[in-house]
Amino acid sequence: MQAFTLVHPSDAKAAVVAASHSNAKYIAGGTDLLQLAKDNIETPDHLVDLEALNLSRIEAGPGRLRLEALARMSDVAAHPAVVKSWPVLSQALLASASPQIRNMGTMGGNLLQRTRCGYFRDTGFNCNKRNPGSGCPAINGENRNLAILGGSDQCIATYPGDMAVALLVLDAQVELSGHAGVRTVPIGDFHRLPGDTPHIETELQPGEMITAIRIPATAERSAYLKVRDRSSFAFALVSAAVALDIQGGVIRSARVAAGGVGTKPWRLPEVEAALTGKPANADTLKAAADRAGEGAHPASMNAFKPLLLRRTVLRALQTVSV
Ligand SMILES: Cc1cc2nc3c(=O)[nH]c(=O)nc-3n(C[C@H](O)[C@H](O)[C@H](O)COP(=O)(O)OP(=O)(O)OC[C@H]3O[C@@H](n4cnc5c(N)ncnc54)[C@H](O)[C@@H]3O)c2cc1C
Ligand code: SF4
Repeated sequence: MQAFTLVHPSDAKAAVVAASHSNAKYIAGGTDLLQLAKDNIETPDHLVDLEALNLSRIEAGPGRLRLEALARMSDVAAHPAVVKSWPVLSQALLASASPQIRNMGTMGGNLLQRTRCGYFRDTGFNCNKRNPGSGCPAINGENRNLAILGGSDQCIATYPGDMAVALLVLDAQVELSGHAGVRTVPIGDFHRLPGDTPHIETELQPGEMITAIRIPATAERSAYLKVRDRSSFAFALVSAAVALDIQGGVIRSARVAAGGVGTKPWRLPEVEAALTGKPANADTLKAAADRAGEGAHPASMNAFKPLLLRRTVLRALQTVSV
Protein backbone atom coordinates (compact mmCIF):
# COMPACT_ATOMS: atom_id res chain seq x y z
CA MET A 1 0.00 0.00 0.00
CA GLN A 2 1.29 3.44 -0.97
CA ALA A 3 2.04 5.72 2.02
CA PHE A 4 -0.21 8.79 2.12
CA THR A 5 -0.79 12.03 4.00
CA LEU A 6 -4.28 12.65 5.37
CA VAL A 7 -5.97 16.05 5.74
CA HIS A 8 -9.36 16.98 7.23
CA PRO A 9 -10.63 20.20 5.63
CA SER A 10 -13.70 21.72 7.29
CA ASP A 11 -15.41 23.26 4.23
CA ALA A 12 -15.94 22.34 0.58
CA LYS A 13 -13.70 25.12 -0.78
CA ALA A 14 -10.75 24.00 1.35
CA ALA A 15 -11.42 20.38 0.33
CA VAL A 16 -11.27 21.27 -3.38
CA VAL A 17 -7.96 23.10 -2.84
CA ALA A 18 -6.57 20.14 -0.86
CA ALA A 19 -7.66 17.70 -3.59
CA SER A 20 -5.83 19.66 -6.27
CA HIS A 21 -2.62 17.94 -5.15
CA SER A 22 -1.46 15.85 -8.15
CA ASN A 23 -2.06 12.36 -6.70
CA ALA A 24 -4.86 13.20 -4.25
CA LYS A 25 -8.17 11.43 -3.64
CA TYR A 26 -11.16 12.22 -1.52
CA ILE A 27 -12.10 9.65 1.10
CA ALA A 28 -15.60 9.31 2.56
CA GLY A 29 -16.61 5.97 4.18
CA GLY A 30 -13.47 4.34 2.76
CA THR A 31 -15.29 1.05 2.04
CA ASP A 32 -14.15 0.88 -1.58
CA LEU A 33 -11.13 3.16 -1.68
CA LEU A 34 -9.23 1.53 1.19
CA GLN A 35 -9.54 -1.95 -0.32
CA LEU A 36 -8.34 -0.62 -3.68
CA ALA A 37 -5.43 1.12 -1.95
CA LYS A 38 -4.48 -2.00 0.02
CA ASP A 39 -4.46 -3.98 -3.23
CA ASN A 40 -2.38 -1.27 -4.98
CA ILE A 41 -5.13 -0.72 -7.55
CA GLU A 42 -5.37 2.91 -6.44
CA THR A 43 -2.19 4.54 -5.16
CA PRO A 44 -3.03 8.02 -3.84
CA ASP A 45 -0.34 9.72 -1.78
CA HIS A 46 -2.67 12.40 -0.37
CA LEU A 47 -6.13 11.67 1.05
CA VAL A 48 -8.69 14.41 1.66
CA ASP A 49 -11.12 13.21 4.33
CA LEU A 50 -14.62 14.62 3.82
CA GLU A 51 -15.98 13.69 7.25
CA ALA A 52 -15.47 17.16 8.84
CA LEU A 53 -17.48 18.86 6.08
CA ASN A 54 -20.69 18.09 7.90
CA LEU A 55 -22.41 17.20 4.63
CA SER A 56 -24.70 14.40 5.74
CA ARG A 57 -28.18 15.96 5.75
CA ILE A 58 -31.19 14.23 4.20
CA GLU A 59 -33.55 17.05 3.17
CA ALA A 60 -36.99 15.78 2.21
CA GLY A 61 -39.27 18.67 1.20
CA PRO A 62 -42.69 18.57 -0.45
CA GLY A 63 -42.13 16.64 -3.68
CA ARG A 64 -38.34 16.80 -3.62
CA LEU A 65 -35.35 15.22 -1.95
CA ARG A 66 -31.77 16.42 -1.45
CA LEU A 67 -29.19 13.97 -0.13
CA GLU A 68 -25.88 15.42 0.94
CA ALA A 69 -22.79 13.56 -0.22
CA LEU A 70 -21.81 12.19 3.18
CA ALA A 71 -25.30 10.87 4.05
CA ARG A 72 -24.90 7.17 4.90
CA MET A 73 -26.54 4.52 2.73
CA SER A 74 -28.31 3.02 5.77
CA ASP A 75 -29.70 6.38 6.93
CA VAL A 76 -31.08 7.21 3.49
CA ALA A 77 -32.59 3.72 3.06
CA ALA A 78 -34.40 3.95 6.41
CA HIS A 79 -35.57 7.57 6.18
CA PRO A 80 -39.40 7.50 6.45
CA ALA A 81 -39.91 9.99 3.59
CA VAL A 82 -37.61 7.96 1.30
CA VAL A 83 -39.39 4.71 2.17
CA LYS A 84 -42.80 6.29 1.43
CA SER A 85 -42.14 8.58 -1.53
CA TRP A 86 -39.03 7.12 -3.20
CA PRO A 87 -39.32 3.36 -2.50
CA VAL A 88 -37.08 2.49 -5.47
CA LEU A 89 -34.22 4.33 -3.78
CA SER A 90 -34.71 2.73 -0.38
CA GLN A 91 -35.00 -0.74 -1.98
CA ALA A 92 -31.87 -0.27 -4.11
CA LEU A 93 -29.84 0.78 -1.08
CA LEU A 94 -31.12 -2.10 1.04
CA ALA A 95 -30.18 -4.52 -1.76
CA SER A 96 -26.60 -3.19 -1.68
CA ALA A 97 -23.61 -4.66 0.16
CA SER A 98 -24.09 -5.54 3.86
CA PRO A 99 -25.50 -3.64 6.87
CA GLN A 100 -21.97 -2.84 8.07
CA ILE A 101 -20.93 -1.41 4.69
CA ARG A 102 -24.20 0.54 4.38
CA ASN A 103 -23.49 2.09 7.79
CA MET A 104 -20.19 3.45 6.46
CA GLY A 105 -20.85 3.92 2.72
CA THR A 106 -21.95 7.36 1.57
CA MET A 107 -23.97 8.81 -1.33
CA GLY A 108 -20.89 10.29 -3.04
CA GLY A 109 -18.69 7.25 -2.51
CA ASN A 110 -21.43 4.93 -3.73
CA LEU A 111 -21.76 6.75 -7.06
CA LEU A 112 -17.98 6.54 -7.53
CA GLN A 113 -17.39 2.90 -6.56
CA ARG A 114 -15.21 1.12 -9.11
CA THR A 115 -15.97 -1.92 -11.20
CA ARG A 116 -15.81 -5.45 -9.81
CA CYS A 117 -14.17 -6.85 -12.98
CA GLY A 118 -11.73 -9.36 -11.52
CA TYR A 119 -8.90 -8.34 -13.85
CA PHE A 120 -9.22 -4.71 -12.80
CA ARG A 121 -8.94 -5.71 -9.15
CA ASP A 122 -5.84 -7.88 -9.61
CA THR A 123 -2.54 -6.19 -10.52
CA GLY A 124 -1.27 -9.54 -11.83
CA PHE A 125 -3.31 -8.92 -15.01
CA ASN A 126 -3.30 -6.27 -17.71
CA CYS A 127 -6.31 -3.96 -17.73
CA ASN A 128 -7.02 -0.91 -19.90
CA LYS A 129 -9.01 0.73 -17.11
CA ARG A 130 -6.18 0.43 -14.58
CA ASN A 131 -3.30 0.82 -17.01
CA PRO A 132 -4.45 2.45 -20.29
CA GLY A 133 -3.25 0.66 -23.41
CA SER A 134 -2.24 -2.54 -21.61
CA GLY A 135 -5.12 -4.64 -22.98
CA CYS A 136 -8.38 -6.20 -21.86
CA PRO A 137 -8.13 -9.87 -20.87
CA ALA A 138 -11.85 -9.95 -20.03
CA ILE A 139 -13.02 -9.73 -23.63
CA ASN A 140 -11.79 -13.27 -24.32
CA GLY A 141 -11.61 -14.35 -20.71
CA GLU A 142 -13.79 -14.50 -17.58
CA ASN A 143 -16.67 -12.19 -18.45
CA ARG A 144 -19.81 -13.79 -16.97
CA ASN A 145 -20.54 -10.74 -14.78
CA LEU A 146 -19.56 -8.13 -17.32
CA ALA A 147 -21.57 -5.81 -19.53
CA ILE A 148 -23.75 -6.55 -22.54
CA LEU A 149 -24.54 -2.89 -23.23
CA GLY A 150 -22.20 0.06 -23.72
CA GLY A 151 -18.95 -1.89 -24.04
CA SER A 152 -16.09 -1.04 -26.39
CA ASP A 153 -13.14 -3.03 -27.74
CA GLN A 154 -11.17 -1.51 -24.85
CA CYS A 155 -13.41 -2.44 -21.91
CA ILE A 156 -16.64 -4.29 -21.10
CA ALA A 157 -16.63 -3.80 -17.31
CA THR A 158 -20.03 -3.49 -15.65
CA TYR A 159 -20.89 -0.50 -13.51
CA PRO A 160 -21.51 -2.35 -10.22
CA GLY A 161 -23.70 -0.05 -8.10
CA ASP A 162 -27.41 -0.30 -7.31
CA MET A 163 -28.27 3.21 -6.13
CA ALA A 164 -27.32 4.95 -9.39
CA VAL A 165 -29.78 2.71 -11.28
CA ALA A 166 -32.60 3.87 -8.98
CA LEU A 167 -31.46 7.48 -9.35
CA LEU A 168 -31.82 7.18 -13.14
CA VAL A 169 -35.57 6.57 -12.90
CA LEU A 170 -35.86 9.45 -10.43
CA ASP A 171 -34.20 11.85 -12.91
CA ALA A 172 -31.71 12.82 -10.18
CA GLN A 173 -29.12 15.55 -10.54
CA VAL A 174 -25.61 15.28 -9.09
CA GLU A 175 -24.46 18.50 -7.41
CA LEU A 176 -20.73 19.16 -7.79
CA SER A 177 -18.34 21.69 -6.30
CA GLY A 178 -15.00 22.55 -7.87
CA HIS A 179 -12.64 25.35 -8.78
CA ALA A 180 -15.24 26.82 -11.16
CA GLY A 181 -17.96 26.83 -8.46
CA VAL A 182 -21.08 24.69 -8.10
CA ARG A 183 -22.75 22.91 -11.02
CA THR A 184 -25.23 20.07 -11.49
CA VAL A 185 -25.06 17.14 -13.90
CA PRO A 186 -28.01 14.83 -14.70
CA ILE A 187 -27.27 11.36 -13.31
CA GLY A 188 -27.63 9.91 -16.81
CA ASP A 189 -24.68 12.04 -17.98
CA PHE A 190 -22.53 11.62 -14.86
CA HIS A 191 -21.02 8.21 -15.69
CA ARG A 192 -19.19 7.84 -19.01
CA LEU A 193 -19.06 5.04 -21.56
CA PRO A 194 -15.62 3.40 -21.75
CA GLY A 195 -14.92 4.09 -25.44
CA ASP A 196 -11.16 4.54 -25.92
CA THR A 197 -10.68 5.92 -22.40
CA PRO A 198 -12.07 3.34 -19.94
CA HIS A 199 -9.95 4.86 -17.15
CA ILE A 200 -12.09 8.04 -17.28
CA GLU A 201 -15.34 6.94 -15.65
CA THR A 202 -17.27 10.12 -14.83
CA GLU A 203 -17.72 13.75 -15.77
CA LEU A 204 -15.89 14.90 -12.59
CA GLN A 205 -13.15 17.43 -13.29
CA PRO A 206 -9.83 17.34 -11.38
CA GLY A 207 -10.41 18.33 -7.74
CA GLU A 208 -14.20 18.41 -8.17
CA MET A 209 -16.27 16.80 -5.43
CA ILE A 210 -19.85 15.59 -5.14
CA THR A 211 -21.72 17.69 -2.59
CA ALA A 212 -25.27 16.33 -2.99
CA ILE A 213 -27.80 14.41 -5.05
CA ARG A 214 -31.05 16.19 -5.91
CA ILE A 215 -34.28 14.41 -6.79
CA PRO A 216 -36.93 16.69 -8.28
CA ALA A 217 -40.22 14.78 -7.77
CA THR A 218 -41.74 11.94 -5.78
CA ALA A 219 -42.16 8.45 -7.25
CA GLU A 220 -44.51 6.50 -4.96
CA ARG A 221 -45.17 3.88 -7.63
CA SER A 222 -41.57 2.74 -8.03
CA ALA A 223 -39.53 -0.36 -7.24
CA TYR A 224 -36.09 -1.98 -7.50
CA LEU A 225 -35.54 -5.66 -8.21
CA LYS A 226 -32.08 -7.21 -8.04
CA VAL A 227 -31.17 -10.70 -9.28
CA ARG A 228 -27.88 -12.13 -8.00
CA ASP A 229 -26.05 -15.37 -7.40
CA ARG A 230 -27.00 -15.37 -3.70
CA SER A 231 -29.80 -13.51 -2.01
CA SER A 232 -27.67 -11.07 -0.04
CA PHE A 233 -24.23 -9.47 -0.08
CA ALA A 234 -23.66 -9.89 -3.82
CA PHE A 235 -23.51 -7.57 -6.80
CA ALA A 236 -26.29 -7.63 -9.39
CA LEU A 237 -26.23 -10.09 -12.24
CA VAL A 238 -29.15 -8.03 -13.50
CA SER A 239 -31.33 -5.45 -11.78
CA ALA A 240 -34.27 -3.27 -12.78
CA ALA A 241 -35.54 0.05 -11.46
CA VAL A 242 -39.01 1.16 -12.53
CA ALA A 243 -41.21 4.20 -11.87
CA LEU A 244 -44.67 4.44 -13.39
CA ASP A 245 -47.40 7.07 -13.35
CA ILE A 246 -50.72 5.28 -13.91
CA GLN A 247 -53.99 7.21 -14.09
CA GLY A 248 -57.37 5.68 -14.92
CA GLY A 249 -55.69 2.42 -15.87
CA VAL A 250 -53.41 4.12 -18.43
CA ILE A 251 -49.63 4.48 -18.09
CA ARG A 252 -49.07 8.24 -18.38
CA SER A 253 -45.31 8.06 -17.98
CA ALA A 254 -42.72 5.34 -17.46
CA ARG A 255 -39.10 5.41 -16.39
CA VAL A 256 -37.14 2.16 -16.52
CA ALA A 257 -33.44 1.43 -15.98
CA ALA A 258 -31.20 -1.59 -15.52
CA GLY A 259 -28.10 -2.53 -13.55
CA GLY A 260 -25.62 -5.36 -13.99
CA VAL A 261 -25.85 -5.15 -17.77
CA GLY A 262 -24.26 -1.84 -18.76
CA THR A 263 -20.86 -0.22 -18.56
CA LYS A 264 -22.79 2.58 -16.84
CA PRO A 265 -26.21 2.64 -15.16
CA TRP A 266 -28.47 1.91 -18.13
CA ARG A 267 -31.77 3.61 -19.00
CA LEU A 268 -34.17 1.58 -21.17
CA PRO A 269 -35.98 4.12 -23.43
CA GLU A 270 -37.27 1.33 -25.67
CA VAL A 271 -39.22 -0.13 -22.72
CA GLU A 272 -40.45 3.30 -21.64
CA ALA A 273 -41.76 4.04 -25.16
CA ALA A 274 -43.61 0.71 -25.25
CA LEU A 275 -45.36 1.52 -21.94
CA THR A 276 -46.27 5.18 -22.32
CA GLY A 277 -49.89 5.85 -23.21
CA LYS A 278 -50.82 2.17 -23.06
CA PRO A 279 -53.30 0.42 -20.75
CA ALA A 280 -51.58 -0.93 -17.64
CA ASN A 281 -52.29 -4.60 -18.31
CA ALA A 282 -50.34 -7.85 -18.60
CA ASP A 283 -50.01 -7.65 -22.40
CA THR A 284 -48.54 -4.15 -22.28
CA LEU A 285 -46.03 -5.05 -19.58
CA LYS A 286 -44.89 -8.21 -21.39
CA ALA A 287 -44.53 -6.48 -24.76
CA ALA A 288 -42.57 -3.64 -23.17
CA ALA A 289 -40.28 -5.89 -21.12
CA ASP A 290 -39.53 -7.96 -24.22
CA ARG A 291 -37.83 -4.89 -25.70
CA ALA A 292 -35.39 -4.48 -22.80
CA GLY A 293 -31.77 -4.50 -23.87
CA GLU A 294 -32.32 -4.09 -27.60
CA GLY A 295 -28.91 -3.97 -29.27
CA ALA A 296 -27.16 -5.89 -26.49
CA HIS A 297 -23.84 -7.60 -27.28
CA PRO A 298 -23.31 -10.48 -24.84
CA ALA A 299 -19.76 -11.69 -24.25
CA SER A 300 -18.74 -15.37 -24.42
CA MET A 301 -19.97 -16.21 -20.89
CA ASN A 302 -23.03 -14.00 -20.38
CA ALA A 303 -25.42 -14.89 -23.18
CA PHE A 304 -27.96 -15.56 -20.39
CA LYS A 305 -28.21 -11.87 -19.52
CA PRO A 306 -30.61 -10.57 -22.22
CA LEU A 307 -33.36 -13.05 -21.23
CA LEU A 308 -32.69 -12.50 -17.53
CA LEU A 309 -32.95 -8.75 -18.12
CA ARG A 310 -36.32 -9.05 -19.86
CA ARG A 311 -37.69 -11.24 -17.06
CA THR A 312 -36.35 -8.95 -14.33
CA VAL A 313 -37.86 -5.87 -15.96
CA LEU A 314 -41.21 -7.66 -16.31
CA ARG A 315 -41.26 -8.70 -12.64
CA ALA A 316 -40.37 -5.19 -11.51
CA LEU A 317 -43.10 -3.67 -13.71
CA GLN A 318 -45.64 -6.13 -12.32
CA THR A 319 -44.90 -5.05 -8.74
CA VAL A 320 -45.79 -1.41 -9.44
CA SER A 321 -48.77 -1.86 -11.74
CA VAL A 322 -51.16 -3.72 -9.46
C1 LIG B 1 -17.93 -6.54 0.04
C2 LIG B 1 -18.65 -5.40 -0.63
C3 LIG B 1 -19.88 -5.61 -1.22
C4 LIG B 1 -20.55 -4.56 -1.84
N1 LIG B 1 -21.76 -4.78 -2.44
C5 LIG B 1 -22.38 -3.75 -3.07
C6 LIG B 1 -23.63 -3.94 -3.73
O1 LIG B 1 -24.20 -5.03 -3.74
N2 LIG B 1 -24.20 -2.86 -4.34
C7 LIG B 1 -23.62 -1.63 -4.34
O2 LIG B 1 -24.19 -0.68 -4.90
N3 LIG B 1 -22.44 -1.44 -3.74
C8 LIG B 1 -21.81 -2.46 -3.11
N4 LIG B 1 -20.61 -2.26 -2.53
C9 LIG B 1 -19.94 -0.98 -2.71
C10 LIG B 1 -20.28 -0.01 -1.59
O3 LIG B 1 -21.61 0.39 -1.73
C11 LIG B 1 -19.31 1.15 -1.73
O4 LIG B 1 -18.04 0.66 -1.30
C12 LIG B 1 -19.68 2.36 -0.93
O5 LIG B 1 -20.93 2.87 -1.32
C13 LIG B 1 -18.63 3.44 -1.16
O6 LIG B 1 -18.91 4.54 -0.33
P1 LIG B 1 -17.77 5.15 0.58
O7 LIG B 1 -18.33 6.36 1.20
O8 LIG B 1 -17.21 4.12 1.50
O9 LIG B 1 -16.70 5.53 -0.54
P2 LIG B 1 -15.11 5.59 -0.44
O10 LIG B 1 -14.56 4.22 -0.46
O11 LIG B 1 -14.70 6.52 0.63
O12 LIG B 1 -14.81 6.32 -1.83
C14 LIG B 1 -15.09 5.69 -3.06
C15 LIG B 1 -14.62 6.64 -4.18
O13 LIG B 1 -15.40 7.82 -4.17
C16 LIG B 1 -14.59 8.98 -4.02
N5 LIG B 1 -15.40 9.90 -3.24
C17 LIG B 1 -16.07 9.61 -2.10
N6 LIG B 1 -16.88 10.63 -1.75
C18 LIG B 1 -16.68 11.60 -2.69
C19 LIG B 1 -17.25 12.89 -2.89
N7 LIG B 1 -18.18 13.38 -2.09
N8 LIG B 1 -16.83 13.62 -3.97
C20 LIG B 1 -15.89 13.11 -4.82
N9 LIG B 1 -15.33 11.89 -4.68
C21 LIG B 1 -15.73 11.15 -3.63
C22 LIG B 1 -13.30 8.50 -3.39
O14 LIG B 1 -12.20 9.31 -3.76
C23 LIG B 1 -13.19 7.10 -4.01
O15 LIG B 1 -12.62 7.21 -5.29
C24 LIG B 1 -19.95 -3.28 -1.86
C25 LIG B 1 -18.72 -3.05 -1.23
C26 LIG B 1 -18.07 -4.10 -0.63
C27 LIG B 1 -16.74 -3.84 0.04
S1 SF4 C 1 -13.25 -5.25 -18.89
FE1 SF4 C 1 -12.35 -3.24 -18.41
S2 SF4 C 1 -11.87 -3.40 -16.25
FE2 SF4 C 1 -12.07 -5.51 -17.00
S3 SF4 C 1 -10.03 -6.14 -17.72
FE3 SF4 C 1 -11.05 -5.24 -19.47
S4 SF4 C 1 -10.36 -3.12 -19.41
FE4 SF4 C 1 -10.01 -3.93 -17.38
